[in-house]
Amino acid sequence: MTNEGANKFGETAGFIHNYIQEDLKGELNKVHTRFPPEPNGYLHIGHAKSICLNFGIAELYGGKCNLRFDDTNPAKEDVEFVNSIKEDIKWLGFDWDDRLYFASSYFDKMYEFAVKLIKKGKAFVCDMTAAEMKEARGDLVTPGKNSPWRDRSVEENLDLFERMKAGEFADGEKTLRAKIDMASPNMNMRDPVIYRISHMTHHASGDKWCIYPMYDFAHPVEDAIEGITHSICTLEFEDHRPLYDWVIREIGDFKVIPRQIEFAKLNLTDTIMGKRYLRNLVETNQVDGWDDPRLCTICGIRRRGYTPSAVRTFCEMIGVAKANSTVDMGQLEYCIREDLKGDTPVAMAVLDPVKVVITNYPEGQSEFLTVANHPDNEALGERQVEFGREIYIEREDFMEEPPKKYFRLSPDKEVRLKGAYFIKCTGVSKDENGVIQTIYATYDPETKGGNCLTRKVKGTIHWVYAPAAVKAKVNLYENLVVKDETSDNGYSLNPDSIKTVDAMVEPYIADCSPMDRFQFMRLGYFIADSKHFTKENPVFNRIVSLKSSFKP
Ligand code: ATP
Ligand code: MG
Repeated sequence: MTNEGANKFGETAGFIHNYIQEDLKGELNKVHTRFPPEPNGYLHIGHAKSICLNFGIAELYGGKCNLRFDDTNPAKEDVEFVNSIKEDIKWLGFDWDDRLYFASSYFDKMYEFAVKLIKKGKAFVCDMTAAEMKEARGDLVTPGKNSPWRDRSVEENLDLFERMKAGEFADGEKTLRAKIDMASPNMNMRDPVIYRISHMTHHASGDKWCIYPMYDFAHPVEDAIEGITHSICTLEFEDHRPLYDWVIREIGDFKVIPRQIEFAKLNLTDTIMGKRYLRNLVETNQVDGWDDPRLCTICGIRRRGYTPSAVRTFCEMIGVAKANSTVDMGQLEYCIREDLKGDTPVAMAVLDPVKVVITNYPEGQSEFLTVANHPDNEALGERQVEFGREIYIEREDFMEEPPKKYFRLSPDKEVRLKGAYFIKCTGVSKDENGVIQTIYATYDPETKGGNCLTRKVKGTIHWVYAPAAVKAKVNLYENLVVKDETSDNGYSLNPDSIKTVDAMVEPYIADCSPMDRFQFMRLGYFIADSKHFTKENPVFNRIVSLKSSFKP
């Protein structure tokens, strides 16, 4: 893996390094991490943080990082998600080589380990219903009550567990529980369920199993089987760590005991990343699929035009902490701008066009002007831009009664057309509602290329030559969600999260391929939409505007 960002990322993970370095001073002589997604949805930018961290740490210590699908729950998992997750990790710039694993391929082993726990008297088959179990669990101040089935003999437990596996019982009729301590102050240690019955088809193992291991049993076992040295996970699993350690210790078969290290999840302002929420938006058609450019899914930000290197830089910049916090979206946008500014061609598009007729320019004539494709990057070359009597400019670049310090076009005032000429407004025509239909102007042929030795103008505006302009749909985005007291999670979809305008663009812009990026002069960075762009019907998405709220 060649990946600068990941390397540096590792260095901002201070407390994690302390643990690892401590371990390396002892018996441990290698670092092996893993990224363990559950294939029940698409990855989001929070997962990107975990990916950068796990692959980054492994690389930094000359170790390895596995990709392991944590597919122990047959209910919500699907190969569609497996494939998208692989694609997204590759896109981010990481590679698991030949270390692709599935938790479901350990089902036989997990079953053996469960049997081993039963034989040791450390697990029992319980007939309590879910409701009874909840009732008997106690709470933070009240100890739980032992299950009436807790003292079944080893033989009876082995027999019942075997019959659970054979399909003799219905879903929920019996469970296998670890025998730990119903009075433990840690609720996770109160005889947790480690196997449940579920007569469901699994995306990988099919109908082979009707019992499935619970996450808290399966996860530490998966790590231990793979020889994971450092099991990096998010904070909510901190209280589960004693249970994981118990599982590994009681099974006792493993050479490597994984050390779990927790870090704070990434949260971003103005958006929601939880798979459940995203899935609901997708399934109720409130967005254009998992890759809707408004979403913080990896495929969404890819279609939005974000770059993998910008995402990696962002993950490195925000660092890794032990306390939950929310990162400003402006910081992510800053990373995107920084990444795009040096080598994205700049061209002209008008998002809210109004026509300008240049009355002293000969009718039926036009000319080509040479314009650089980037102000500082000569390697991007130059192009020929057509100019003539009729052009479009932004409606907001003209004001009939301008305030002081308005340097754009207004009656009797001059403005520079980027790469073309100075023009002066001589009048306007309006429709019956007073809306300006056409602006009239004259140009000064002595100012070709926008240069003039005798006088200065303060404003430079963008424009497109009307007869050659290409109509394009342009999507502009705002926050995905807005606060909403009446909804379950306190948010609802922002009705203004997408606004589509009919723009006029230079032919140079329309003559591109899906996923090509441009800076539309003064308007931001844009990308040709991967799903809907065609040369006949161009569609562009705004990646990010030019203004930054974030200062590094
Ligand atoms: P979600 O709650 O968004 O559905 P998840 O935690 O259920 O996410 P998993 O597939 O279980 O999703 O996650 C795979 C890995 O990514 C886990 O190690 C998890 O801790 C990590 N992860 C998930 N969300 C974030 C986040 N917001 N920030 C950092 N890491 C995350
Ligand atoms: Mg999960």
